[in-house]
Amino acid sequence: MSTSEIKIQHLGVAVSSIDDALIFWRDGLGLELKEIEVVEEQGVRVAVLPIGESRLELLEATGAETPVGRFLSRRGPGLHHLSVEVDDINAKIAELKGRGVRLIDEQPRVGAGGALIAFIHPSSTGGVLIELTQKDSDS
Ligand code: ZN
Repeated sequence: MSTSEIKIQHLGVAVSSIDDALIFWRDGLGLELKEIEVVEEQGVRVAVLPIGESRLELLEATGAETPVGRFLSRRGPGLHHLSVEVDDINAKIAELKGRGVRLIDEQPRVGAGGALIAFIHPSSTGGVLIELTQKDSDS
């Protein structure tokens, strides 16, 4: 796989309130709200809005002591992470570990939509939280 085939699976934006954020992203900008899903393990409500071949995910914390809740209290709303689609997440994790990249998840876990995901620590990426998302095998 050449690097040019790697896609941005989604952009994650931390918001205080999905309802309030939709006033801009849906009503103002004109994106379609496809669904809202709760990912209990991560303590987050996720609103999915397709944009081009990718999608925007508005992330609302279900409580203060969740990853998105802590992000909001430290830094306020804004761009939270970038998700990059990979064919084989286990192979990519092993490759990055071999290169000395610091991973938050050394084992994949289940994210929104049931996809396997793993986060890379911003200290290894120039300050951007990167989420690897394994390509859906049915698409
Ligand atoms: Zn994500």
